[in-house]
Amino acid sequence: MAHSYIGRFAPSPSGPLHFGSLLCAFASFLHARQHNGKWLVRIEDIDTPRIDSAMSKVILDSLHAHGLDWDEKVTYQSDRLDYYQSVLDKLSLQHDIYACACSRKQIKARSQFYDQHCRHLQLTFLDRAIRFKHDQTNNQFDDFILGSQNIEDGIANEDFVVKRADGIFAYHLVVVADDIEQQVSHILRGNDLLSMTPVHLSLFQAMQAHIPEYGHMPVVVQAPKQKLSKQHHSPAIDDSRALENIKLALCYLGIPIHKQANLTTVHSMVGWAIKNWHLEMLPKQTELLISITNGVYSMSDE
Ligand code: GLU
Ligand code: ZN
Repeated sequence: MAHSYIGRFAPSPSGPLHFGSLLCAFASFLHARQHNGKWLVRIEDIDTPRIDSAMSKVILDSLHAHGLDWDEKVTYQSDRLDYYQSVLDKLSLQHDIYACACSRKQIKARSQFYDQHCRHLQLTFLDRAIRFKHDQTNNQFDDFILGSQNIEDGIANEDFVVKRADGIFAYHLVVVADDIEQQVSHILRGNDLLSMTPVHLSLFQAMQAHIPEYGHMPVVVQAPKQKLSKQHHSPAIDDSRALENIKLALCYLGIPIHKQANLTTVHSMVGWAIKNWHLEMLPKQTELLISITNGVYSMSDE
């Protein structure tokens, strides 16, 4: 029998987990567990120049240290290149894709978004970017956290890249290919990916696959519009402070543990959180501000 709820956490191992990614992991985990669902972990290590393979283990160790135990074997995108090629072949048979020879500079000189310049040129695929003929309009959809969405035209309608000229399958293609193959039913992720969702919906349709529910949660920032990230030198989660990190994460998710609750182990805290999780308690704002002092995260007073 197919599981009715399958959630997932899909980190890219470009660095260790920071507090924002831990928060996303917690939310998707708690929501899955509360629905008696499965929670899968998938390492999105497709973009080989950007990833650091040693980080996969660091991320998995962090999840484990925080009581976020996943179901099934962890999948690695780097192991699944044949599968992604088969998805691309299917799109090709359906005449859904074409090769593009434009450089980034040429595209930008012509317009803000890709103008379908190569759509009818019938270029050969070898060593060229491959784009999806994006004729669907999926700007409107229901988000299970944010409600009805209407994403502005632009990225949402572009003929986006599914395989790069350097031969690397693009994020959009692999994320949807994996969500299809793993039968993911609920995708709870950061709202930095909200504007990408129409693109993902179009790929599900092109693949004639069942479309999962999408919910987008606030992103954690260290200053307004400064998402925690490697680029902003956001500190890694310190696994030796797992109890403090979980307490802080639950505050940010809107379910603070009361002092009286007397929870002293990772597993008792996570068990408490599963029972007390309410999607409705998630803060509604787009960004959640956090303080960082000497590499340690703490609640921002603002
Ligand atoms: N790997 C993506 C990231 O780390 C997440 C993909 C997704 O959740 O759809 O940003
Ligand atoms: Zn082109």
